Amino acid sequence: MSTDAARPGASFGPEVYAARRERAAAHARDAGLAGLLVSPGPDLAYFTGYAPATTERLTLLTIPAGGTDAPGRASVVVPLLERGDLAGAPGTEGLDVVTWRDGDDEHDAAARLLDPEGAYAVSDATWALHLLGLQRALPGARFTAFTDAVPTLRAVKDAAEVERLAAAGAAADAAFADVLQVAFAGRRERDVAADLDRFLRDHGHEQVDFTLVCAGPNGADPHHDAGERVIEAGDLVVLDFGGLRGGYGSDTTRTVLVQGDGADGADEALVAQQREVYDVVRRAQQAGVDAVRPGATCQDVDRAARAVIDAAGYGDFFVHRTGHGIGTTTHEPPYMVEGEERPIEPGMCFSVEPGIYLPGRFGVRIEDIVVAFPPDVPDGARRLNTSSHDLQTVR
Ligand code: ZN
Ligand code: ZN
Ligand code: ZN
Repeated sequence: MSTDAARPGASFGPEVYAARRERAAAHARDAGLAGLLVSPGPDLAYFTGYAPATTERLTLLTIPAGGTDAPGRASVVVPLLERGDLAGAPGTEGLDVVTWRDGDDEHDAAARLLDPEGAYAVSDATWALHLLGLQRALPGARFTAFTDAVPTLRAVKDAAEVERLAAAGAAADAAFADVLQVAFAGRRERDVAADLDRFLRDHGHEQVDFTLVCAGPNGADPHHDAGERVIEAGDLVVLDFGGLRGGYGSDTTRTVLVQGDGADGADEALVAQQREVYDVVRRAQQAGVDAVRPGATCQDVDRAARAVIDAAGYGDFFVHRTGHGIGTTTHEPPYMVEGEERPIEPGMCFSVEPGIYLPGRFGVRIEDIVVAFPPDVPDGARRLNTSSHDLQTVR
C-alpha cells in the first residue's frame, strides 16, 4: 500500500514531535491514565508527522504516561510492510518500533506493550475493529476516547503552529478578496463555490474542506452547502470556506450583499432587516472576541456573543455554538459553547462565528479564527482573519 507518509508542508523538526509526546504523557498522568493509544489520523500526524491511510492492518502509537507506575517508552506498532514508510516520517526519531507480519495477532503484539490493568485513552479516529481487538487482548484494561479523557491535548498551539494557522488565515482572506471580484448575480451557488475552491488553492491550500455558498433563503440554513440556486440581485450570500494550508486549517465566513434591488423591485422592509441583522451579528462577533480575557472560560465567549443577539431580539435564531477549535483539522476541541467551563489558555486557537438565521428569508454569519493571549496581545485575542467586517457588496 502506498502511503502519504508526511503531508506536504505539514512537517516540523523531530524535536517538535518529541516535545508533543512529552506533553501528551503529562496530560495522560493528569488524567490518571496509564497511557495514550494513537491510530492513523490527525492525532498520529500530530505526534509523529506520519500520516498513513487507515486500514484493517493495525498501526498504533503508544505513549506511556511514565512516572513510577507505568514505565516504558513510546512505541509504534506497525505492519512489517509499512515499516519503511514510517521510517520516512519526520517525527519518529526515538520511538521503539514493533513490527508484525500478516498472520500474527497484531492486537496481541500491541497488548504486550501495555499494562494489562491500565486505563488508556484511545484516539477518536481508531477503528472499532482495532479497539475491539485490544479489548479482547487486554480484558482487564479500560479504554476511553481522547475527546472524553484528554480533550485539549492538541488545543494549545505553539508558536510554530500559530504561524501556520496565521498563514492559512491570510490565504483564506486573500481568497475572499478574490471572490469579491467575481460575478454573483445570475450564477449558481456552486459556480461561486468552484471559484472559492480555486482561489484557496491559488493561495496555497493543499486541501479544501468546504466552500459553502448560501444565497438568499438558503442562508437561513447554517450548513446548507452550495447548490443549484441561481443567485439574485438583493440576496445576502453567506460564504463559509476553509481547508488546510501547510497542514493547518483555515475557516472563515463573510456575508456579502449582491447589489441591485432584485427582480421584483426593492422590498424595503427586507433591505432594512438585512442591514439590521448584519449589524447585530457584527457586534456579537466583536463581543465574542472581546470576551477572551484573562480568567475567561470557553463558554464566556458563547455567552458574550449570544447576549448581543438576545438583546436585539434574535436569540431564537442563533441556533449553533459560537465556535470551535482549529489546528491540523478544521473542527476540533475546544468548543465555545454553554457548559464548556474549561479556561481559555494562551495559544488556544478557535473560531468566533455567531449567526442569525431567519427561515425563508436570509441568514448572516461572520467568522474569524483567533489565537488567545499571543505574545503581542497578552490579555486578549488576536484575529487570524483580518478581512473587513463591513458589509461588502458584490455584483
Ligand atoms: Zn461546521
Ligand atoms: Zn466556517
Ligand atoms: Zn467554523
